[in-house]
Amino acid sequence: MKSNSKGKSSRSRAVTLIITPDMLAGMYEYLRTTPPFKGWKLPPSSEVKFNVSRNPKEYGYYQWDGKRHTITGSIKSVGQTITLAVFMAHEMIHMYLEIHGLESRKGGRDTHNAAFKKRAARVCKWHGFDLKAFY
Ligand SMILES: [Zn+2]
Repeated sequence: MKSNSKGKSSRSRAVTLIITPDMLAGMYEYLRTTPPFKGWKLPPSSEVKFNVSRNPKEYGYYQWDGKRHTITGSIKSVGQTITLAVFMAHEMIHMYLEIHGLESRKGGRDTHNAAFKKRAARVCKWHGFDLKAFY
């Protein structure tokens, strides 16, 4: 989920969450206990690095450097629990695809192939997320 396709909101919100690596890890662990993630055997949060960025142009991203999984969330784009949940679920699909060699190697860093879309549909159905806004 690279770009914030909704652009800047003109609505002002009095309060938003200031996301922290702990919140990212907490949401990751929560989702790991729920379907369909539960069956995916993703590594525990202790084996994943969680980062917070200040880039307003992205929600965040998942990276595998050959040794470690890293999930980076943008403090500028994620300010509510639902956004955090959707963001994390999205990146966990990328992680699953990477682990199983299903991630696309061409078409840029944030390509959503058929394998991604299939799992996204399942995730959105279980969690009540809007598939139209999921990727
Ligand atoms: Zn993506």
